[in-house]
Amino acid sequence: MELLEEIRSCRICADRFATTATAHTPRPVVWFKSGARILIVGQAPGARVHESGKPFTDPSGDRLRDWMGVDERIFYDQSRVAIVPMAFCFPGYNAKGSDLPPPPICAKTWRTRVLTQLGEAPLVLAIGGYAQKWHIGTKIGVTETVRAWRDHAPALFPLPHPSWRNTAWLKKNPWFEAELLPELRRRIQETLA
Ligand code: SF4
Repeated sequence: MELLEEIRSCRICADRFATTATAHTPRPVVWFKSGARILIVGQAPGARVHESGKPFTDPSGDRLRDWMGVDERIFYDQSRVAIVPMAFCFPGYNAKGSDLPPPPICAKTWRTRVLTQLGEAPLVLAIGGYAQKWHIGTKIGVTETVRAWRDHAPALFPLPHPSWRNTAWLKKNPWFEAELLPELRRRIQETLA
C-alpha cells in the first residue's frame, strides 16, 4: 500500500478519540506530494477540517494564507505546498471544550516516513509549540521562539497558531506583522518562483 493510503486508513487512535468529549472516529487529513517547495507543519486538524477532510478550511486557514500572501490556488497546490501536521487527525475536545493536544503516537508512527518521502523542502513553516519542538528542538516557549525567527530564517519560519485565539497575541507583539510577515512573504515568493 502507498504511504498516503496507509495513513488514510490508520485507526490507531480510535479508542483514544472515543473517550474524548467529541467521541469522534479518526479521519486522517493527508495533504502532501514529494517535491513540494514549502512544508507547513501545524498542530492537528480542528473540528471544521475534520468535517471537510481538507486542511485549513477554516478561519485559521484564511489567516495563514493572508500571512503567507498566497491565495487558495497556490496554497492547495500539492506540487508546491505540503501540509503535514504533528497529528493527521482531529484530537477532539476535552470536557471544558478545549482542543486536546496532538497524540504523540502519530508523529512517532508516521513522521519520519512522511518527511523522507517528501524530501527536503527549501522552506518550512513551523506553526506552534509541537511543530517547533520537532523541527527546531526548541525548549523555550512559542513567543520566544517566534521572536528569534531570524535565527532560523530563511530555511524555516516559526509561527504562532493563526487561530482567532491568538488575536490578542498579535496585538501584543506588533513586530510579528511589521517585521516577520514581510520577510516571510518575500521568502515564499522567492521559493515558489
Ligand atoms: S492521529 Fe495519526 S496515529 Fe492517530 S489515528 Fe490519526 S493518523 Fe493514526
